[in-house]
Amino acid sequence: MTGAEARVSRTGQDVVTPNEHALVILEDGAVPFCHYENPHFHAAAEPRWMAPGLLAGIIRRARKDKIALTFLLGKTAPPPKLQHLIDTVDHAKIVPWELHGRYPDAVVVLDAKDSISFAELTNNLDRNLILRLGKRSLKKCSGLVEALFGKFRRLSIHLVDVEDFTSSDFVSYEKELRKMRAALVPFYRDGYPVEVNVLTDRMMLSAMRNCGAGVDHLTIAPDGKCYLCPAFYYDDERSSVGAFDDKKGLVVRRLAAAQFVRAPLCTRCDAFHCKRCIFLNKKTTLELNVPSEQQCAVAHLEREASRQMLIDLGSTEPFRRMPRITELNYRDPLECIDAPPLGVQLRATDPSTDPML
Ligand code: SF4
Repeated sequence: MTGAEARVSRTGQDVVTPNEHALVILEDGAVPFCHYENPHFHAAAEPRWMAPGLLAGIIRRARKDKIALTFLLGKTAPPPKLQHLIDTVDHAKIVPWELHGRYPDAVVVLDAKDSISFAELTNNLDRNLILRLGKRSLKKCSGLVEALFGKFRRLSIHLVDVEDFTSSDFVSYEKELRKMRAALVPFYRDGYPVEVNVLTDRMMLSAMRNCGAGVDHLTIAPDGKCYLCPAFYYDDERSSVGAFDDKKGLVVRRLAAAQFVRAPLCTRCDAFHCKRCIFLNKKTTLELNVPSEQQCAVAHLEREASRQMLIDLGSTEPFRRMPRITELNYRDPLECIDAPPLGVQLRATDPSTDPML
């Protein structure tokens, strides 16, 4: 848990303490925003909204415990009662393309499949966008990013089916990263302070900063049950780790395996920007804390592209002052498993302290 310690409730479960972050799914058809799918998003059914009483309780508790709220919406705007409640609290919203006009301050999720509509987005250098992109659209990646130039302050690219990437997909992605790099450098030289997660996040980090699902943030489903992140909810509703309680707050079972220090491979890695998606980990390796080869390879391609972009940018501010990224001779940290961990102090002489063993 970042910056906060969990209290233990009488039931033996952990209660989330202040200064955390909760994602609130307002209806089942909420837009999927990263490495997961939500079949309800595409369904024609009427939204089944979170009950106003439950939402009011969550907002009350969030204010009391200083929990930052992000609301996830689907294609339909909330009914007035819910909208009124949402408006009573500081929050962030993640919305699909369909609601981008209604909520100009929201993070808008774009799907590469709908790229034809990107031209309709107005120029806005304050906006945060998410671009979801599957392997079928991989070769269009740099073109799509260029088409969005001028329309965002931060663009987060999320590869949706990275677990199925083959070696030819890695080659395509590497090429696309190179083209994006070439397109972005003049933009930075002209003084536009935009961010593209896969190229700029690593430059700005000196330690791991991963997704943090289940550690920095939790997800509350429309029925009040809690999940590590929306992906776990949509994948299997039985994977709930607790529930929102009007009197106690978020009563959840903490999964130690979700924590970075329990991820032995990751503690040896300096692809600091990697999502370290625990949902993909679980899906591909059956362990929350063991990443698939694909995740590691993608993160290292991005790390290398960031390294080269820092060199390209040379004396351009503020990149001039950023620490250089060292060149690596491997693509998957598994290849250097004998190396000492970067993020954690272990007694190297005592094998019993090595979580790999
Ligand atoms: S674990 Fe994080 S990166 Fe992975 S699907 Fe969930 S929110 Fe997205």
